[in-house]
Amino acid sequence: MHQYTNTHIHNHKPYHWILFDADNTILDFDRSEREALRKALAELSIPFENNYHQAYHRINKDCWLAFEEGKISRAELRLRRFELFFKEIGQSAECESFATRYLFHLSQTDFLVDGAIAQLRRLAPRYQLALVTNGLKEVQRPRISKAGLNEFFPTIIVSDEIGHSKPNPSFFEYTFEQIGHPPREKVLIVGDNLNADIRGGAEFGIHTCWYNPAGQENGLGVSPNYEINQLQKLSSFL
Ligand SMILES: [Mg+2]
Repeated sequence: MHQYTNTHIHNHKPYHWILFDADNTILDFDRSEREALRKALAELSIPFENNYHQAYHRINKDCWLAFEEGKISRAELRLRRFELFFKEIGQSAECESFATRYLFHLSQTDFLVDGAIAQLRRLAPRYQLALVTNGLKEVQRPRISKAGLNEFFPTIIVSDEIGHSKPNPSFFEYTFEQIGHPPREKVLIVGDNLNADIRGGAEFGIHTCWYNPAGQENGLGVSPNYEINQLQKLSSFL
């Protein structure tokens, strides 16, 4: 009778660690942002108009960039985006309390990107996973927890908690310390942001997978090792 034995399975896994970006890779940040803005405005009885989210999104992105480049402080980031937003939409509001309400509503959102949990379930038993996010701790920690992500990610790095953001190499150095300095060629980062995730990862010497669902053009001159438009496509190489 043929006996099946539990022989050594040759495992040609190219990576040991996968670093996942959170916003717009695992968590649907755009939907969260829209929802938080709508709720915070409703508290001021300001009806939500269609162009508001787009306007805020653009202003917030510019403010984050200025913050990541060290041009404005964390406190300035918190307020300036709302000052600019209310000016643009021709409304007035007390920005400090609005910021508090907005951040509260944002922290309570847990929308996920399609296929995220299915992929994490599939990958978690086979790879070491870490979540690496640029964001404010009081927003990211509750969202990560509410979305049920803690069980997949023993290591979670939030830029606000360490004082460095992607793509700064200090962010990746801190992450590598937390995960025990694996060989860089055994680490892959998956993220939607060409600058923060892909350029940051590539310059640190790890492999990169650009999650690009909208089929944006690559205007940065950085070449990701992989590019996918759906998270399900991770199955083709992981
Ligand atoms: Mg992102």
